[in-house]
Amino acid sequence: MQFMSLLCLARLFFSNPGFVRDLFITRQLETIDGAKRFAIYAKEDATPIDGGFETPLIDTDKALCTVEIVEPGDEVKPFSVEDWYRYKFCDKCQHVKPPRAHHCIICGECVLRMEHHCPWVGNCIGLLNHKIFWLFLLYSSMGLGGIAVVLLSAAEDKFFITTLGAIAVGLAIFLLFLFQTFNIIKNWSTIETYGLWVNNIFKSHSYGRSWRLIFGANCLTWLLPIESTSPAEGLDYMADIPVLGLMNAKTK
Ligand SMILES: [Zn+2]
Ligand SMILES: [Zn+2]
Repeated sequence: MQFMSLLCLARLFFSNPGFVRDLFITRQLETIDGAKRFAIYAKEDATPIDGGFETPLIDTDKALCTVEIVEPGDEVKPFSVEDWYRYKFCDKCQHVKPPRAHHCIICGECVLRMEHHCPWVGNCIGLLNHKIFWLFLLYSSMGLGGIAVVLLSAAEDKFFITTLGAIAVGLAIFLLFLFQTFNIIKNWSTIETYGLWVNNIFKSHSYGRSWRLIFGANCLTWLLPIESTSPAEGLDYMADIPVLGLMNAKTK
């Protein structure tokens, strides 16, 4: 357990949580009636050239989706669920920001379905590494629980403080693990908890569907600290309300 816990920690430190600029390239298309339109391509489909990337610019069929940055209108209140469930432009990244992505001021990047920035692992937790974070909590609480049991069975007074420490830290991590499990099956992140608690736009999703968004469809990889979710999942989460600005998306 301790080995798996350390492996998850190392993977988290070096993982890409879903940095938008590392995964996608946006190309501005024509502007119609003042609305800016963009095509979003997977970065792996683009050809690196000096100082940038070349995309199949004309061929928007090769884009993952085309989007329009729209002003949401009076019926959408600022900072409401409807407001953040739309495509925006991040002025800091100079890049299109998909719905549920947030700009992390510590990383200086927009992160897909950002969960939170974790100072303990020195990285953001987002769509692509939330699973590894959950596994880290699982293996750490199990490992610390095992250590506490061994120390308790030793029943030596000199281990009393160590045993108490292992129980307290293990319990705190286990509570965080339960909270994260709840977040995952409800299809919301820590920074979305309040907004979606009040107005859950994923009501029609089953717990299984929400789980597979983070863990992938292949149950054989669920307990392994590897990425299972495709970045393209971060462009549209199939909520019960239409995503504002999405014009054309490939069926996944
Ligand atoms: Zn940003
Ligand atoms: Zn961050």
